[in-house]
Amino acid sequence: MIYPDTNPDEWSERYHINKSSVPCDRCGKTLIPEIPFAYEDWRGLRSKPHPCGKIYDLVVAVSVDKQSRERWTDLYNSLQAEEPKP
Ligand SMILES: [Zn+2]
Repeated sequence: MIYPDTNPDEWSERYHINKSSVPCDRCGKTLIPEIPFAYEDWRGLRSKPHPCGKIYDLVVAVSVDKQSRERWTDLYNSLQAEEPKP
């Protein structure tokens, strides 16, 4: 998992990542995908950690290689295992 030092707007434009905010399923807090990340062929944005726990954090990702879409579980597990930088 890589957290590139880039601007979320620039990152979402470059990879066509949907930057829409959504409410948390548990607490209703607005989750903003604002932390750019890269994992293998995936490029995405995730929300900052909040008290509901990582499983409720918003993750939006697109695959550079379309075949990677089938490996969403790998990405998800990797995200659950790592904390984003502060
Ligand atoms: Zn929440």
